[in-house]
Amino acid sequence: MRSNVLEYALIAPSTLPAVLQTLADEPGRYTPIAGGTELMVALSAGRLTQKNLLSINHLRELRFITTTPTDITIGSGTTFTDIRYSEAIQESFPLLIEAASWTGSIANQNRGTIGGNIVNGSPAADTPPALLAYGAKITLVSAAGTRTMPYGMFHLGYKTNALAPDELLYSISLPRKFAAYRSYIRKVGTRNAQAISKIALAGVALVENNVVTDIRLGAASLREVPTRCPAAEQAILNQPINEETIAAARAALLTEARPIDDIRSTAKYRAAIAANLLEEFLLQLAT
Ligand SMILES: Cc1cc2nc3c(=O)[nH]c(=O)nc-3n(C[C@H](O)[C@H](O)[C@H](O)COP(=O)(O)OP(=O)(O)OC[C@H]3O[C@@H](n4cnc5c(N)ncnc54)[C@H](O)[C@@H]3O)c2cc1C
Repeated sequence: MRSNVLEYALIAPSTLPAVLQTLADEPGRYTPIAGGTELMVALSAGRLTQKNLLSINHLRELRFITTTPTDITIGSGTTFTDIRYSEAIQESFPLLIEAASWTGSIANQNRGTIGGNIVNGSPAADTPPALLAYGAKITLVSAAGTRTMPYGMFHLGYKTNALAPDELLYSISLPRKFAAYRSYIRKVGTRNAQAISKIALAGVALVENNVVTDIRLGAASLREVPTRCPAAEQAILNQPINEETIAAARAALLTEARPIDDIRSTAKYRAAIAANLLEEFLLQLAT
């Protein structure tokens, strides 16, 4: 059943400090709404239990991409379209460009934000595998100040995260250190457009003399939250790329895979395809 919009309230303090003060005054009362592409679907479907919404969509302070010689920092209110057309991100983080281009439709990309994609906490979301592979750090902000953590520590469990009730996700920083790395990303869904992933894998690897001297993998829909794949990474690290390594990497990935059965796919299919994607990445590294 559709929601009765008269039961909902929306406020929009005009600056970031005013938003943060509102959250600090009554922690937990307000739910931030950025692009609304998750929350409005829930509203329309009668599933939005939070009645007090706090718009952050208009905050210019959250919509930026800044570049230094060592990092690129992306404001949480940056849209997928902003990301896709950022030359700095195109140059240094092609996996994120690819992921942003997969997300929903063009209309979705014009409104949906990277912050909303992260905080929503779907295990199938498109940008997290790339962010995990690139070693993203995130900064949270409240009226009391900021704190920064590895993005890999943000998701605590299915749809739970490290945000306190008075905090917003402020920004995502990516280290510009992957110029010499080879990279891989692939999303497997029901079709090529407008489909949530059944499974997705992103990876970056440094290969020297056919030996993998560094590797980072990020996956969607492999566990209850977007996840690195430490067992698979360990099976590949400092190994030559050959049949034994590929077999060991596939087996290791399956030990850490905890996919679910749902309307989009089965756990068995997801695990099998995740191993196939990893093998595809390794075969690409060998060429
Ligand atoms: C038709 C359609 C297709 C879609 N396809 C895809 C797809 O292919 N891949 C994919 O990954 N997603 C997809 N989505 C989901 C959605 O578009 C993305 O997750 C998007 O990134 C959400 O961003 P938003 O700004 O619209 O979030 P909102 O709906 O505004 O918010 C989502 C959640 O994040 C919280 N939030 C947002 N910003 C902040 C912040 N800065 N600090 C703290 N909390 C915050 C909100 O409180 C809310 O809980 C699709 C959605 C639709 C409607």
